Amino acid sequence: MFWFTVNNLEISNRLINVQLQLKVMDKYVNLVYIPGHSGITGNDLADEKARKLACSISCGNTEATENVTVSDVYKLITEIATRSWQRKWHEDSTGRATYSFIPDVGTKVTFPKTREIGVSYCRILLHDTMSNDDAFRTGIADTYMCDCGHERETVEHVLLRCPRHAEARSIMKNNLSDIWNNVNVRRRHKRNLEINESFLLMPFNYNYSDVYRKEDYYVKETLFEFLSTVMRCGGKGYFAECGLRNAESCQRVICGKFDADFFCGMKGKVRNESMRNVTGMNIY
Ligand SMILES: [Zn+2]
Repeated sequence: MFWFTVNNLEISNRLINVQLQLKVMDKYVNLVYIPGHSGITGNDLADEKARKLACSISCGNTEATENVTVSDVYKLITEIATRSWQRKWHEDSTGRATYSFIPDVGTKVTFPKTREIGVSYCRILLHDTMSNDDAFRTGIADTYMCDCGHERETVEHVLLRCPRHAEARSIMKNNLSDIWNNVNVRRRHKRNLEINESFLLMPFNYNYSDVYRKEDYYVKETLFEFLSTVMRCGGKGYFAECGLRNAESCQRVICGKFDADFFCGMKGKVRNESMRNVTGMNIY
């Protein structure tokens, strides 16, 4: 239901015409009358902005285009969808571990060429790894402690503190120092590098300005190198597939306890489909 004054009859006819054209394309649009000056804050605001813009157009201060290109519409839709997605991501109560690494939706994340390391990295970002801390939480491991006995086997512990990976970590730190020196040279003032989990996992987001894309790539390479060096369970990646292909895995599945070992007995499409169901992500 809508209503226009006689002066706006032409606009009304044009809108109806567009509506009919869209209908032919199986796109249905309802034209509704939204009252201004009705005390609804959002409506009044939109009404005021529309009035100002209309004045500006009639005075010749603003140029109103007759046609909107498809690419403009795509751009607009993308902006609206991204804003909506971002708002949801800010306000959501789940996925907060991932949010702490990637607060901005649409962030391009560098992945390694090796699929296994990529799966490990992805699971680290999802806070769903085979480390004891995660595995205990999901009911797979009997303890959250690291085998080294020092503390919980969190991803942070493995990356930064576990004495069992001191050698691989030392290589990683040396590489990171070289990269950071370049950052300092470019920035023309020295700043000490604090190697933390956030820097390693999403270097580009580190303080939002210090690390360039190219350096992000180098830091990631160093991280992926570390991930491929620290092994357990049949020589597979540390944080994802552990290589178990025995009755124990099946037992866990039958018991209804999902775990990453479940994927080890699967191949190709079936495994990707299962992983997609669990993570909700497209796995290629
Ligand atoms: Zn440890």
